[in-house]
Amino acid sequence: MSNAFARPADRLAAIKPSPIRAIFDRAARLEAEGRKIYHFEIGRPDFDSPAVAKQATIAALEAGKVHYAPNAGTADLRAAISEYLADKRAVRYCPDGEIIATVGANEAVFLAMMAFCGPGDEVVIPVPAWAHYQSCVRLAGAEPVEVPLNAADGHRLDHAALAAAITERTRMVVLCTPNNPTGTVASKSDVDAVAELLRGTDALLLSDEIYADLTYDTDHVSPAALDELHPRTLSVGGFAKAFAMDGWRLGWLAGPAELIAPALRVRQYTTVCSTTFTQDGGAAALRSAREDSESMRRSFEQRRNAALDILRGTERVRVASPDGAFYLYLSYDPATAEPAEELALRLLEEHGVAVVPGTAFDPAGGTHSLRISYACPLPDLTEGLRRIRTALGR
Ligand code: PLP
Repeated sequence: MSNAFARPADRLAAIKPSPIRAIFDRAARLEAEGRKIYHFEIGRPDFDSPAVAKQATIAALEAGKVHYAPNAGTADLRAAISEYLADKRAVRYCPDGEIIATVGANEAVFLAMMAFCGPGDEVVIPVPAWAHYQSCVRLAGAEPVEVPLNAADGHRLDHAALAAAITERTRMVVLCTPNNPTGTVASKSDVDAVAELLRGTDALLLSDEIYADLTYDTDHVSPAALDELHPRTLSVGGFAKAFAMDGWRLGWLAGPAELIAPALRVRQYTTVCSTTFTQDGGAAALRSAREDSESMRRSFEQRRNAALDILRGTERVRVASPDGAFYLYLSYDPATAEPAEELALRLLEEHGVAVVPGTAFDPAGGTHSLRISYACPLPDLTEGLRRIRTALGR
């Protein structure tokens, strides 16, 4: 029955339900019926969170840390984030004024866009991209400008296409490296090119580095480590991917104090602060679980290599070797199979394999692409990929 009171705000008109939803819902129903499902749709590690993080959180609860934390996060967590970014990314941020501990990297992106983007502004986003960016841009009242990247080029940053998209209306450029969904890692020359393209503009750079610790054959370059980019860069990071702490809802936004202050103002009227006792767990992870994180990275690398070995023999399927994150983004010849959203449903119904159709990341260019997360046990990965090959007719 329709409800006369359900009249969403105009700003929601352009926010579409995620195409991933149909896959999640159907997979859950099939599982409830007792079917074995190979979960390649999930963007989170299959590992447990580090023990030191859990112990520190339990100790925080027992010590009565159950009340509001400062808006920007506890002093100890901000100090731990600052040390971590200095050690791992060669970027210096003052814990006092240049870092906000957020409710996951999701909130960091939202705060940045609400603080700096509004009607008349454009935000340039290379695609395929994690769809959260476009939705946050629209919620902020600004317009996303998508820059299509080329599958034949391994979805590397296209400097000329990026240059063409940047205009006087550009308020922000989004760079996600390592990338979700492609796994592509921006090189030093990509980052230098971004610096050059932004020179003379007042555009900000939103650098989403949530996968930065998960690189394989290459090193991650933090844009904010470049003196030229540092003043205009907002760096996003978190615990969900490299520390297997996605359910903790903890992340960060870091940048020069003048950029962090407006984001903190948005924060004061939304989530107020991250959960207080989990912040001790986050600080413990950054300081004392780096070996746990490295061991997860090695497992992802092993799975990535195994997955590539299986898929490389598949005719009319193109898959670049991803240098980071834990996804494979494959494209197939349209003559081989139906469009991605239909193929994803068939893979699920007939083969018990859940994947995300490329249209979730690139509505125009992803019609014959799939994202496969290899954050799952190796035997499941092997069997699920074998089923995908069968569905694609080998
Ligand atoms: N950024 C990217 C590129 C992601 O893929 C994700 C999650 O899938 C996030 C940010 C969100 O991370 P968090 O769980 O910390 O909010």
